[in-house]
Amino acid sequence: MAIILPELPYAYDALEPYIDEETMHLHHDKHHQTYVNNVNAALEKHPEIGEDLESLLANVEAIPADIRQAVINNGGGHLNHALFWELMTPEETAPSAELAAAIDAAFGSFEDFKAAFTAAATTRFGSGWAWLVVNKEGQLEVTSTANQDTPISEGKTPILGLDVWEHAYYVKYRNVRPDYIKAFFSVINWNKVDALFAAAK
Ligand code: MN
Repeated sequence: MAIILPELPYAYDALEPYIDEETMHLHHDKHHQTYVNNVNAALEKHPEIGEDLESLLANVEAIPADIRQAVINNGGGHLNHALFWELMTPEETAPSAELAAAIDAAFGSFEDFKAAFTAAATTRFGSGWAWLVVNKEGQLEVTSTANQDTPISEGKTPILGLDVWEHAYYVKYRNVRPDYIKAFFSVINWNKVDALFAAAK
């Protein structure tokens, strides 16, 4: 067994004009495939630890030292991207009443949540991700991580994530990360976020 690249749940051009087709091809077919190839190469050195990346990344200290950083980088890269594709859709969706109420309770309003998430995505220096997570206390929280680090390694369950590596937006948005962040809000798959929220509570 090996980890395989999941197919996109929509066509490569489905998220146009917000996320362009060329970016989706490069991002999915090249970048994500590379994380898959590299994590498989690392895991092959230690077949005894299995391939359950969520479990492995929940306790990184238990990963053999010689492959630990490779699994953090590439296993995280695979998990983050596999989730990211599912968190977007060309369909119009909206948060469920339960999630909307939880967002209001945690942040004050949806607009306040959006501002907090946008700030996290904008201010993450260099490469990384912005997240909406359910933390250990069961509360919603906006956070960000560097590189391909996953909130799972901090005991948090990601329910929404935005890739802010330059490879995610540079073809269309060049250096203007804020425009890409704004566009992302037009393609969020709230049905998926709802399902992850319900499962995490
Ligand atoms: Mn990426």
